[in-house]
Amino acid sequence: VSSPDQAREALTLARADAVALIVGLERELAGIIEAAGAASGGDDEHDPEGATVAFERQHVAALLERAREDLVQIDAALVKVAEGRYGWCESCGQPIGAERLAARPAATTCIRCASRAAGR
Ligand SMILES: [Zn+2]
Repeated sequence: VSSPDQAREALTLARADAVALIVGLERELAGIIEAAGAASGGDDEHDPEGATVAFERQHVAALLERAREDLVQIDAALVKVAEGRYGWCESCGQPIGAERLAARPAATTCIRCASRAAGR
């Protein structure tokens, strides 16, 4: 497990990335909604372009939701660093591998528990 300073640095970088992603997606979503409002009279259902816009909007909204969840996890991980609990699997209590933490600084479970939860 990496040192608290390294963990905090990795999480701070990941947090900045997540915030930038959320800001970008929010802007994209607002643009889609605005463009849709300007183009059609709000009749999404029967106009093929409206259906595409609805799909796009759903897609961006889903990405936004995931990015916000990531941010929540990163903040939770930062709290753990401050409390000296960072880097331990929440499921089995074993240390989370350094490689996994490097790839996913906000990971709360070890690779074994994560893949079990994913059903693999
Ligand atoms: Zn585990």
